[in-house]
Amino acid sequence: MTQQVDTLFINALVLTMDQDFRQYHPGAVAVKGDSIVAVGMEEEIKQEYSAKETVDCSGKVLMPGLINAHTHVPMTLLRGLADDLRLDVWLMGYMMPVEREFVSPEFVRLGTLLACAEQIRSGVTTFNDMYYFEEDVAKAAADAGMRAVCGQTVMKFPAPDAASYEDSLQMAREFIQRWKDHPLIVPAVSPHAPYTCTAEILRATAELAREFDVPLHTHLAETAFEVENMRSEHGIPVIPYVKKQGLFEAKVIAAHCVHIDSGEIRTLLHARAGVSHNPSSNLKLASGFAPVMKMLETGLNVGIGTDGPASNNDLDMFEEVRLAAFVAKAVTNDPTSLPAPWALLMATRLGAQALHIGHLTGSLEPGNRADLILVDISPLHNSPSFKRSPDNAYAQIVYAGKSTDVSDVMVNGRWLMRDHQLLTVNEKELLAQAAQIARQIDAFLIEREQSVLSKLIALGGSLEQESFEVQVKVKLTDPETVVQALKKPEIDIVRKRHYREHDVYFFFDDPSRGRLRFREDDFIDDVKGVVTNVRARLTLLGQKREGQFEDQVLLSRSRYIAPASQSLRFYREYFKPKSEVAIEKDRQRWLIQYKETEFFVNLDQMREPQLGYYLEIKTRTWSRKDAERKAHLASELLSVLGAAGGEKVTEDYIDIVGEV
Ligand SMILES: [Zn+2]
Repeated sequence: MTQQVDTLFINALVLTMDQDFRQYHPGAVAVKGDSIVAVGMEEEIKQEYSAKETVDCSGKVLMPGLINAHTHVPMTLLRGLADDLRLDVWLMGYMMPVEREFVSPEFVRLGTLLACAEQIRSGVTTFNDMYYFEEDVAKAAADAGMRAVCGQTVMKFPAPDAASYEDSLQMAREFIQRWKDHPLIVPAVSPHAPYTCTAEILRATAELAREFDVPLHTHLAETAFEVENMRSEHGIPVIPYVKKQGLFEAKVIAAHCVHIDSGEIRTLLHARAGVSHNPSSNLKLASGFAPVMKMLETGLNVGIGTDGPASNNDLDMFEEVRLAAFVAKAVTNDPTSLPAPWALLMATRLGAQALHIGHLTGSLEPGNRADLILVDISPLHNSPSFKRSPDNAYAQIVYAGKSTDVSDVMVNGRWLMRDHQLLTVNEKELLAQAAQIARQIDAFLIEREQSVLSKLIALGGSLEQESFEVQVKVKLTDPETVVQALKKPEIDIVRKRHYREHDVYFFFDDPSRGRLRFREDDFIDDVKGVVTNVRARLTLLGQKREGQFEDQVLLSRSRYIAPASQSLRFYREYFKPKSEVAIEKDRQRWLIQYKETEFFVNLDQMREPQLGYYLEIKTRTWSRKDAERKAHLASELLSVLGAAGGEKVTEDYIDIVGEV
């Protein structure tokens, strides 16, 4: 009597990707319900099992489905939106602003279904995701029939799905509670990265992951910049830092790990953390080369991931595996590095182990879920086949196989693709919907690019419009007169500051776009003579003056101020100015009270270019009437400070520089 199963795969070249790299040819696999019940030589399996459905796999490799160990699947909808940019400009300048505007549960669902279609076609049966509205990613993945680890993003910034980190943490908790026993979905929590999370967030997410025994998925040590920053802020590299926050108490899946040393690799091993190596993303964003061979030799579970389709730009795991092998060889200058069987192991069993689901999937072994694919190895680009060594089969898949060679995909015992036909998603419909979203995003960005202000707003953060300002500015020959005059009894000094101001002005093609100033102030302690604090700000200055009062007093135009949290280089690449001018001045700034009105008195020494001394008197104003009164006072104050005869300066320093 034979045992009855649901599906019997026969006449296949079976690559089990098990502990011993067992192969069977002609091999067979028996599937019952959601699981694999037997794997072996066809002759033996056929004697023991009979099935309702028998699949003849002639000319094909039967192997475990591929594991995409790190991605952000809804970003299929942002594929090709902004490329050839540095990570910060790409992320903060384009991805995050567009995400804030467009990402919704519907967006996430559509993007996920598109990604599922693409992944099923390329033989992926499991993916590890991190995004917003992750519950909708989970629903869409489950509808498409794919296995997925779905990590709800938590970070310190407001996100498209949560105003605060507490909200996203609560979302993650509820999501995990609802999905933790799902047959296909493993819910997880995803603190985005150490640089987008606070220590508190790292601790809270690790505790949540531990409470429910679910994975914690994050980005670690992706760029050298990230590691440098961590070192300068906390005195230690990324891995020890997150360890200090208790991150490794959880089952961690760490994406990237490009810039880590041997000690950190051992820390990851002791923590039983899984790693996702993402060669396309690391190459495209020039993040560096992960020490893959070292990680594997140390015993880490290293999988391979595509990363999000906006930084790859596809979800093709065949390409990714081949790239992983090639890059490892190039970097170690050793063609024996990362041989084909190991590269494929990373994309299957090691990947599943890295996701902490090695007991479910990743290899063809009895008891595992039936997540398997058929790959045609008979096409022109993959012929002929050699059988001299068992390694020949892995080489065929890794070095010459293409995702389009995948003909059939089964996940959890259910067919998702038969003979290149997708069974669970409607490709045509999805493509039409994606094209529609792309048109909307295009329109949004085209409009944004037209104004410096809207580009500034798109960066998010706190942008404030400054009120109108009454100001008077004169050139000084003797600054000491002003310093002495400030001691007069009619002037009350509230506080005094001394700083070195570095300004870089961005100019644009069209002067009506205004100009943008990146300003960095080094505050100086006059007693100790050291820089005590640095502050950077962005100011968008309009082009027009609003009006003139008195003789020397101006009512200045409105302007927008935002803290500059990124580098000058970031803003340069983001705003793409036509030209730049840099200025440096030493500024003594007094906040004073004169006739019950507050004024700022700035005494500037222009150092670069060397243009001597200037006095500036400024105060805020709220109405035209108020402006008139303050303009009168400012004019008076100019006389009190003994500078009434000074040469009037009607524009900013920048214009003086322009004349030089
Ligand atoms: Zn990523």
